[in-house]
Amino acid sequence: MSEKSESRTESAAVRKVAKTDAEWKRQLTPEQYHVTREKGTERAFAGAYWDNHQPGVYRCVCCSAELFRSEHKFDSGTGWPSFWQPARAENVATGEDYSFLMRRTEALCSRCDAHLGHVFDDGPQPTGLRYCINSASLRFEKK
Ligand code: FE
Repeated sequence: MSEKSESRTESAAVRKVAKTDAEWKRQLTPEQYHVTREKGTERAFAGAYWDNHQPGVYRCVCCSAELFRSEHKFDSGTGWPSFWQPARAENVATGEDYSFLMRRTEALCSRCDAHLGHVFDDGPQPTGLRYCINSASLRFEKK
């Protein structure tokens, strides 16, 4: 399966990417691995993209799926890159997260199950959503 065909998934049936932990470890930096495969969180104001205002797309650092776009990014003041919607609804999955004695909605890459961050309902219109995302889970591609 070529990289080109992988990035052309258009339909609701997102093609899955599955690798072993050893393969992910080889491909990713320790921080990228910790965030995406162990559901870690980078420190606020420490990541590469919280203050990035360039036009472009944010891809999954693990599988290159298009996850977010600069036109949906906003300054949340949290120190993490924040978006009010995904690039494509089918590319970002959500799940329940009960860690740290909180009920939160986790955001994941639909294709490779990478942990991205969390979704909150205090975002701006038109969606009212705030996708609070770790820079370490993303690779920015300038337009
Ligand atoms: Fe992915």
